[in-house]
Amino acid sequence: MADLNEKEKNENTGEAVSSNFIHNIIDKDLENQKYGDKVYTRFPPEPNGYLHIGHAKSICLNFSTAKKYGGKCNLRYDDTNPVKEDVEYIDSIEEDVRWLGFNWTERLWASNYFDKMYEGAVELIKKGKAYVCDLTADQIKDYRGTLTEPGKESPYRNRSVEENLQLFEEMRQGKYADGEKVLRAKIDMASPNINMRDPVIYRIAHATHHNTGDKWCIYPMYDYAHPIEDAIEGITHSICTLEFEDHRPLYDWVLRELGWWSAPPQQIEFARLNLTNTVMSKRYLKALVDNGDVEGWDDPRMPTIAGLRRRGYTPEAVRDFCERIGVSKANSMVDISLLEHCIREDLKEKVQSRNVVENPIKVIITNYPEDKTEEMEIENNKEVPEMGSRMVPFSRELWVDGEDFQEIPEKKYFRLFPGNEVRFKGAYFLKCNEVVKWGDGTIKELHCTYDPETKCGSGFEGRKVKGTIHWVDAKTAIRIMIRAYSYLMIPDEKGENVMNPDSMKELIAYAEPALADAKPGERFQFFRHGYYIADEKLTTEKQKVFNRIVDLKSSWKK
Ligand code: ATP
Ligand code: MG
Repeated sequence: MADLNEKEKNENTGEAVSSNFIHNIIDKDLENQKYGDKVYTRFPPEPNGYLHIGHAKSICLNFSTAKKYGGKCNLRYDDTNPVKEDVEYIDSIEEDVRWLGFNWTERLWASNYFDKMYEGAVELIKKGKAYVCDLTADQIKDYRGTLTEPGKESPYRNRSVEENLQLFEEMRQGKYADGEKVLRAKIDMASPNINMRDPVIYRIAHATHHNTGDKWCIYPMYDYAHPIEDAIEGITHSICTLEFEDHRPLYDWVLRELGWWSAPPQQIEFARLNLTNTVMSKRYLKALVDNGDVEGWDDPRMPTIAGLRRRGYTPEAVRDFCERIGVSKANSMVDISLLEHCIREDLKEKVQSRNVVENPIKVIITNYPEDKTEEMEIENNKEVPEMGSRMVPFSRELWVDGEDFQEIPEKKYFRLFPGNEVRFKGAYFLKCNEVVKWGDGTIKELHCTYDPETKCGSGFEGRKVKGTIHWVDAKTAIRIMIRAYSYLMIPDEKGENVMNPDSMKELIAYAEPALADAKPGERFQFFRHGYYIADEKLTTEKQKVFNRIVDLKSSWKK
């Protein structure tokens, strides 16, 4: 995959720009002046759901290709299906494209070209290249043949041009019911490519269209409409996913038979993105939303762009991911750990660290004065000294993470256990002397002693300890809610992807007081835990709710 996507330097800016097989095609076309110096692409979503990470790949490819060549890229809604327009979907699509960092040249609707498409259909009929067929949908399927057998010609195939013109006109006027008649391209029922066996190009649908209202009761099929949309807009390179490869001869046929354009667009296919541990079909995602299996299209577990955004992903990380996976002709499955790697890489040097403990255990420092509080200076990001430091209160009672204490330590456990000394990050060395328990045997608190000589930053260079743990001052700690997410989909015992029943856990954690100021949408590293974002919807002045974007451990292997 990677070898198809070599990096090169932009001659003008010196910026690294990526290249791929599509760019190689464009380079050749520019050399041959196939479209002059023009490079014009489009992103054509059907507004029937929210965009997902697979669409992000297409968006990045189309918009950055246009950008690379100083060309243009349109946002075009594929609304040839007279389904009710959903403003929510339209708004979300535009928000997502902009959030990814792109701007369309023009925003257009396929339905704006219905007149032209109709005109084209009439033209094809006049040329003897299209006919009205009365077979039912099932019959058309039966007549189509198989991969190994040629199809059978429709008994309506040899209607005269006059009859076809009249019937098509009557279809348009609403004389027939849905499915009663269709218009078919007259190509070749014996073609090895089933898409060329007299495909349906217009169907009857008595439905109100959001844009054209009741003007039409016949609607063009995708394979007929798409090349015309591209050609009208002057698209040069119509990039789509691999499933359309077998449709390309039809795409070319439509443009050739109409003959209206001297340099018609060309379709180029690339492999769609498939990601492990999630699901990428709008229909499936819509079902999750409709069933209430998730909290909406922007649920942080969803692979939608809205979900990734709310989860805490950045546009930079998503773009980086799309770049790294490259553009290829071969379908493959990308491991979701690569996406996680990209967000870690992006946040590593951008966000500040905070101390947060989960499953807290109380620590009492028995030799520390009761009424004393010290302010410990802790760096905000140890990779980026310029990000400065903050003062964190430290006193006699602290919270430590449940993970950082073992009463009976396993092998190679260097954190807190009875008799062991560890460094409390940014503070002192503490030794655990006693485990105090409740009546039911659960841990109430750990009694520790600190060594005043070991204060961090005091120039102490004495004995080494093997473990360093973080802590939160009990007196000033705030309670926060953490939403810990794991994969949306996991394989069941048969190996089939099913929704993960444990895809979200809510837990209460204790945090240093600075987190009380966290604004919705603000991201942090929770020291030794992972990257988190204050949830945009649920975080209030009083209650801080953090989504876990990703943990710190990377399972991504190059
Ligand atoms: P879905 O199958 O999820 O409903 P779709 O392909 O029907 O998606 P469209 O709105 O028609 O959704 O897609 C808009 C554009 O995004 C198309 O050009 C399509 O090829 C592209 N696209 C959709 N899914 C992917 C994917 N997984 N990887 C790359 N491109 C994709
Ligand atoms: Mg589609």
